[in-house]
Amino acid sequence: MLYDILIVGGGPAGLTAATYARRAGKSVLVIEKNAFGGQITWSPKVENFPGYVSVSGTELGDKLLEQAMEQGAEVELDEVVSVSVGADGVKTLVCDSGAEFQGKALIVAVGAKPRMLGIAREEELVGSGVCFCAVCDGAFYAGQPVAVNGGGNSALQDALLLSETCSRVYLIHRRDSFRGEQKLVEALEARENVEFVLNAKVTELLGENELTGIAVEQDGGRRELAVTGLFVAIGHAPDNSVFSSLFALDRAGYADAGEDCLTATPGVFVAGDCRTKSVRQLTTAAADGSVAALAACHWLDA
Ligand code: NAP
Repeated sequence: MLYDILIVGGGPAGLTAATYARRAGKSVLVIEKNAFGGQITWSPKVENFPGYVSVSGTELGDKLLEQAMEQGAEVELDEVVSVSVGADGVKTLVCDSGAEFQGKALIVAVGAKPRMLGIAREEELVGSGVCFCAVCDGAFYAGQPVAVNGGGNSALQDALLLSETCSRVYLIHRRDSFRGEQKLVEALEARENVEFVLNAKVTELLGENELTGIAVEQDGGRRELAVTGLFVAIGHAPDNSVFSSLFALDRAGYADAGEDCLTATPGVFVAGDCRTKSVRQLTTAAADGSVAALAACHWLDA
């Protein structure tokens, strides 16, 4: 089947685009490689999305998916591994499973993935103490001491969540003040089992096959913390490499496109966190989704 619009990425940008495109009468397929809802499914509590006083990230992701499907969007769980554009302008996506999908227009809304610290043995210990998602993996560390690294809202929220079940939570940040919301910082200050380790960076991961501790450099000195889990929450980076033949990437790897979500390739649009922009929030991702979908509809109708 030749879809009107293929959407890669089932986060707030991709699912909002699907809802808008379906309401404009276009056939739509959304392909997501991991979890519908995207990065937000890692957030235990979202309190800044319009219309929701407080909602868990997974619930919000489920609602976005339900809304897009209710409008008639089709969805696939698969990873896009290559893309090509035919002489007739048709876009073909090949997926990890071997499946191929074709569309007249394409919206790339692949978001971003967690950044790594880049220290020795980090990759080797992923899943054996090194984690990137407190919502997903926090329960494995109940009753144990853990550390969170980062100073943004993700790190603060992760530390809060972990402090509810873990015996001790060290919040390690490379500065003396946090980038995340003051309200979250105050909530953490009130928790007796949370310790701030500021002006500090994680330098070593200790333990053979499982993490048993970390070494931290703080104010020129070395300190060891006995933790079984290290939750790295130092932001995200885009992964647009599969689509790099369709649009230019900036130095950090973000798709170089403006607020109109247009790219240099006719019928290809980008939306959400994978695009160059100054504010990466749920609201701006959803806004991009609607802009990209309407631009794609306009391009199809023209
Ligand atoms: P972020 O705001 O970019 O914060 C990343 C943090 O990691 C910063 O404190 C940064 O330090 C630190 N960092 C970066 N590279 C590092 C390195 N190599 N070593 C050590 N520390 C490093 O990322 P985020 O917390 O993932 O949040 C991303 C966006 O999503 C933000 O706009 C955030 O507000 C939003 N968000 C919203 C919610 C919600 O509830 N709605 C939840 C989570 C996130 P510096 O401060 O020194 O740069």
